[in-house]
Amino acid sequence: MKGDMNGIWVFAEQRGGELHEVGLELLGKARQLADEAEKKVTAVILGHDIRPLAQRLINHGADSVVVGDDPRLKTYRLIPYARVISSLIHAYDPEILLMGATYMGVELAPRVAARVRTGLSAHCIDLRLDSNGKLLQVVPGWGGGVIATIACPDHRPQMATVMPGIMKALSAAEKEGEIKEIEIDLPNEGLGPEVLEVKREKPDRLPLEKAEVVVAGGWGIGSRESWKMIESLAELLGGAVGATRPPVDEGWAEEGQMIGQSGKTVRPKLYIGIGISGVMHHVVGMDQSEHIITINTDPNAEIFDTSDVIVVGDFRKIVPKLIEEIRAKLKE
Ligand SMILES: Cc1cc2nc3c(=O)[nH]c(=O)nc-3n(C[C@H](O)[C@H](O)[C@H](O)COP(=O)(O)OP(=O)(O)OC[C@H]3O[C@@H](n4cnc5c(N)ncnc54)[C@H](O)[C@@H]3O)c2cc1C
Repeated sequence: MKGDMNGIWVFAEQRGGELHEVGLELLGKARQLADEAEKKVTAVILGHDIRPLAQRLINHGADSVVVGDDPRLKTYRLIPYARVISSLIHAYDPEILLMGATYMGVELAPRVAARVRTGLSAHCIDLRLDSNGKLLQVVPGWGGGVIATIACPDHRPQMATVMPGIMKALSAAEKEGEIKEIEIDLPNEGLGPEVLEVKREKPDRLPLEKAEVVVAGGWGIGSRESWKMIESLAELLGGAVGATRPPVDEGWAEEGQMIGQSGKTVRPKLYIGIGISGVMHHVVGMDQSEHIITINTDPNAEIFDTSDVIVVGDFRKIVPKLIEEIRAKLKE
């Protein structure tokens, strides 16, 4: 039964019949690892009326796709999804299982790992194989000051989650693969809350990951009042506001505005980082930006190592002048 399906698995998340980009990105990485280790890539997709999505997963790198199509899986729910994935793991015994560190993945992956008694590395920034084909899971550790490489030598599957935007999807290429529809064996009760309706909120601001300009503020901004300067600068440049963890904790910015290992990954044309020290947890989410300008009072701030233009000084003096100059230029 296991056949070629015990290699590298990717859980391909879908919402409302739309594939989440992170599944395609993970397939790109899985393909690279599988080619190195001569293994096969299997994508797993759960939902209802989702069969047409399977071919897209094959075109993006999967050798085979396991499709769990059932009305009870239409909308994501933790318990049924965790049960189905765990029973698939018991049946096929995959070596590796990768999931997106999305709202769904961060809830689902630990539940699955606990059910099948294996380990899980959350929010990996890279994945490699050692010479024996074991998965090396790279995460910033101990406050972001070091990069830790984690292995799971004794338990299977080796599980890791990765934030959207970190891995790169392969371009789609028509190819053939196996599509296997599975029977869903779920009890009628004990599946947790029933979802009656899903209402999607329309974002009221430019999504961070789509913005060409990102102005990000950190703990150095100091207060909600000063945070308005970050918002004004972003608005003036037609960009989006990003943040490190502390401004989110303080309530100056929203969770969805956080950039980094446990936030969003951004690759804008211009990233301006203000009052940000440059801890690895944040840097992994912005270091692929095209141009990076940072402002910090500390001449030794780590963020300067990743910057194209550095400004040493107090943002409270620099940003108002910058805003004034940009306004004047825009009026010309
Ligand atoms: C598991 C885990 C995951 C995490 N994930 C993330 C994540 O995804 N994203 C994230 O951002 N953080 C994350 N963190 C938190 C992270 O470790 C840091 O604590 C955080 O990024 C630091 O934010 P900061 O640079 O704004 O603050 P600080 O490190 O306190 O830096 C503030 C900077 O502001 C400068 N400054 C002060 N006053 C001024 C001024 N007037 N003008 C100019 N500069 C000034 C200071 O010199 C300093 O460099 C995570 C932590 C853990 C443990």
